[in-house]
Amino acid sequence: MPHTSPDIERLLGGIRDRDRAALGRTLTLVESNLATDRRLAQELLTALLPLTGGSQRIGISGVPGVGKSTFIETFGCSLVDKGHRVAVLAVDPSSSISKGSILGDKTRMEKLAVSDGAFIRPSPTGGSLGGVARKTRESILVCEAAGYDIVLVETVGVGQSETAVAEMVDCFLLLMLTGAGDELQGIKRGILELADVIAINKADGANTEAAEHARAELERALAILRPAGDDGWRPKVVTSSGNTGAGLDDVWRLIEEHRAVMDADGGLERRRRKQLLGWMWEMVDEGLRNAVREHPAVAETLGSIETDVHEGRTTPSAAAENILRIFGTSPGKEKVER
Ligand code: GDP
Repeated sequence: MPHTSPDIERLLGGIRDRDRAALGRTLTLVESNLATDRRLAQELLTALLPLTGGSQRIGISGVPGVGKSTFIETFGCSLVDKGHRVAVLAVDPSSSISKGSILGDKTRMEKLAVSDGAFIRPSPTGGSLGGVARKTRESILVCEAAGYDIVLVETVGVGQSETAVAEMVDCFLLLMLTGAGDELQGIKRGILELADVIAINKADGANTEAAEHARAELERALAILRPAGDDGWRPKVVTSSGNTGAGLDDVWRLIEEHRAVMDADGGLERRRRKQLLGWMWEMVDEGLRNAVREHPAVAETLGSIETDVHEGRTTPSAAAENILRIFGTSPGKEKVER
């Protein structure tokens, strides 16, 4: 059923009143791929914009099994106990393939899921990482408008999803496990560029000492591998346990320290501005790609151009130039649907 503007008014009122059902419905609208819903979602987001920006946006990543959901459950509850309102979102581009995300799954965060101060939303299914990322970015804004002052964005430590999340948060927390011997083994270099805070997780029981050893070693390595960035922040390493809650206060202290350093010289403002422009260009790229594919003259010849590339009759570069020439010189649809 198409939404109508009175629906939007109701949703807006509900968000302002911090009504959970309205929040859920708004996120469903934001996650929709239907052109009519997209337009309504943009209308709604524009109206909500003045209420956004007020949260601490924190990305949480780590390989499957590192203990993310256990960590978020304990960490989220401790933040709620401190008086915060915590929203948990997830970015899992594989969720559309596996038909259902394991990230942000409420059954994996039982206490947090029933907490009045928390709201958990599983990963949207978007087809592509770009689609999922767009939806999550917009969902962050909606959660902020609904009064959540901490937004945790969970993602898996595979593929490009970490980079996508790093580009939508203020602080990126990486959970790691102790490895045998060389602690840097298996760490992707790229992730070290993204992490603001690293927690060696499952630091409990027999693993406590090994975790502390790994922490010290990683901190030494980071001092060489990653000098302080433009924002003056050097990534810090702590140990944590989602099971016992040990070290979670340290994690929070570092996130606050990071924020203070970023706030001090306008770094947070700069980071967010850069993210907004990055987001805009991503949408332009995606829009152009779709427009090219859907352009009638391009669509007409695309099959034969692709065959020519497949069969080696033309180079991909020449074919791309040809497609862009057709797109640029032929009249498009009367009115391009946005
Ligand atoms: P995720 O896949 O990263 O979300 O990891 P989970 O939170 O589902 O945890 C994976 C496994 O590790 C489960 O069997 C948990 O019980 C266990 N686990 C999670 N956190 C901890 C922890 O802090 N300490 C210990 N010892 N085990 C943990």
